[in-house]
Amino acid sequence: MTDIDTPIQYVKGVGPKRAPLLERLEVKTLQDILYYFPYRYEDRKNLKKIASLVYGNIETTAGEVVSAEVVTTPKKKFKIFELLVRDETGFLRCKWFNQPYMKRYFEKGQKAILSGVVKGNSFGGAGLEMENPDFELLEGNDRFIHTSRIVPVYKATEGLSPKQMRTLLFNVISSYAPAVEDFMPQDIIERQSLLPLREAIKEAHFPEKFSDISLLLRGMSQAQRRLVFDEFFLLQLGLALSKKKKILQEGVSFQAKSLLVEEFVKMLPFKLTNAQSRVVKEIISDLNRPVPMNRLVHGDVGCGKTVVALIAMLIAVDNGYQACLMAPTEILAEQHFINIHKMIEAIGVKVALLTSGTKIKPLEEISGGDINIIVGTHSLIQEDVKFKNLGLAIIDEQHKFGVMQRASLRKKGFNPHILVMTATPIPRTLALTLYGDLDISVINELPSGRKPISTKVFFSGQREQVHAIINRELAKGRQVYIVYPVIEESEKVDLKNATDGAEAIKKRFPDKRVGLIHGRIKQEEREGLMAEFKAGSIDILVSTTVIEVGVDVPNASLMLIIHAERFGLAQLHQLRGRIGRGKYESYCLLMAYPPFSEEARRRLKVMEATGDGFRVAEEDLAIRGPGEFFGTRQSGMPDLKVANIIRDIDMLEAARKEAFALTDAEQSLQDYPLLKKELQKRWKEKLELVQS
Ligand code: ADP
Ligand code: MG
Repeated sequence: MTDIDTPIQYVKGVGPKRAPLLERLEVKTLQDILYYFPYRYEDRKNLKKIASLVYGNIETTAGEVVSAEVVTTPKKKFKIFELLVRDETGFLRCKWFNQPYMKRYFEKGQKAILSGVVKGNSFGGAGLEMENPDFELLEGNDRFIHTSRIVPVYKATEGLSPKQMRTLLFNVISSYAPAVEDFMPQDIIERQSLLPLREAIKEAHFPEKFSDISLLLRGMSQAQRRLVFDEFFLLQLGLALSKKKKILQEGVSFQAKSLLVEEFVKMLPFKLTNAQSRVVKEIISDLNRPVPMNRLVHGDVGCGKTVVALIAMLIAVDNGYQACLMAPTEILAEQHFINIHKMIEAIGVKVALLTSGTKIKPLEEISGGDINIIVGTHSLIQEDVKFKNLGLAIIDEQHKFGVMQRASLRKKGFNPHILVMTATPIPRTLALTLYGDLDISVINELPSGRKPISTKVFFSGQREQVHAIINRELAKGRQVYIVYPVIEESEKVDLKNATDGAEAIKKRFPDKRVGLIHGRIKQEEREGLMAEFKAGSIDILVSTTVIEVGVDVPNASLMLIIHAERFGLAQLHQLRGRIGRGKYESYCLLMAYPPFSEEARRRLKVMEATGDGFRVAEEDLAIRGPGEFFGTRQSGMPDLKVANIIRDIDMLEAARKEAFALTDAEQSLQDYPLLKKELQKRWKEKLELVQS
């Protein structure tokens, strides 16, 4: 059998000329081409006769070329290439606009397959037409590959037409697919009623046995289900191994009882919510075990994750260890530092801030152990930062970090406990895909007394209305955020910028105190501004998205987002999470500047319709599709090429169960060398990373 990793050039039918073309499509080996699946299928089992084409449908038909001419319209001098074909039932005219070169492709008497939307005759005459249809010319022995079956349609590239791709794939599949070895353990194949791999590959390219085109088009044929299962299984197996490896690590067991925590909780001006208490319990039981914790806490913005994190850190401190909290932005780290400092100074716990903006870095105090809790940005994982004994590392807003950073932070201590927090509220099953190697806690409850936020879209012409609402809130003694998408005007992008915006706002509200904050402001100045805003001595804070996460000023009850149509849903929801944190009614005004895309319109509608982070996330997923939704966050994991997290959720569950069962069983992966090899291939060097 040919090695599955054979470079594409040496695959039969490819050669040195085609290899670079295929490489452009990321097809570099025999395996890649076997897994280069069509993006759609066309039913050419019974090609429609021309007379039975249905107006308005997308149809596929075949005919013999009667004429192929370029005509020029008398008025506008458009060049139209017109093709006339016929079968025994009638004639069909096809038109390509401004593509006179199309004439080259056709000769009288040839047989062509055409597929496209069926239209009426544009000059009111009789007969049907297609505009810019997909076409293929048939030659003598083409019948079997290109017609009389459900045919695959491949993404082509310059130099390789869809039809050439199909011929190539047909030959590759016929020669190599029968010899593909199955890496899936036989008992899993049986339990899950999976098609054997070689059959799945063949059927997904050239469906024969189980060919129901509607299933194929939805990615739900038996062959596709097998391939989907494989992707999920290999993904979950990597996560399962990583989790298992961590469980086998030695960690430090912390005493659960902590006087510091008791003191701290007594001092809190509020009672923990039930959800917070439950999650604290889950964390404490992890910390108590002699294996490192690996837990994800997720909950909507404002559910109170910081307090939970702080309690965990205090337990570490009480046990004689250091704890750190890593945040994605300087401003969030600063805010955390200020809050935490305020809350725990009284109980004698030392906390320091470390970001790239920190002037005098407290490196010695950290390495000497004088400081108990270190709050910072990714500066925390820089080389010169040494902890005396890091026992717990917390990552806030984990979705803003990559797997790499989690791993680097872990290395700062000896198997420290790890807690990651995120406000991306994703359904549980999705969390399992993304964070399958972590235990998960959900804070599914907001502190009581929160008022829902009313959200409304305004358009550029409604500025006065918006200003009136701002005035009303200011008159009540509330404060206001105004958020702009960029810092400075760039010539290319015509965005309103925060600097100009702040000037305009000052003019419009002359007796109000207006502050401006953005990423380029120095740390001290920014801290000063935030402190003033928090203290109420700034009424209107104009900012860029630097305030997106974490900022917490309960008296701010109104947020105006300028150019809201340019923001993503997740970001809008995060921003909105800055308000509605106190006891006041809050308002989020989304200022949109038409024209904008249909997608943008949907995003704004979702924001108006719901304040629930889970629903926002679901809609986001629906609008963007899983690929983009998970985009960078999925970095560090194998791609899902055939699988669709939403459509195939049942498969994901099944694959996860099988993968975890396999790693739990006594047998090791050594018994499955093919599986092990495939696992390494799909995860590449990333498996190491996830496991570290
Ligand atoms: P997030 O989960 O978005 O990080 P925070 O931890 O910033 O939320 O908390 C949001 C606000 O809610 C803060 O002002 C915090 O002090 C307050 N808070 C947290 N827990 C409670 C509670 N149990 N009751 C009332 N307010 C709370
Ligand atoms: Mg937070």
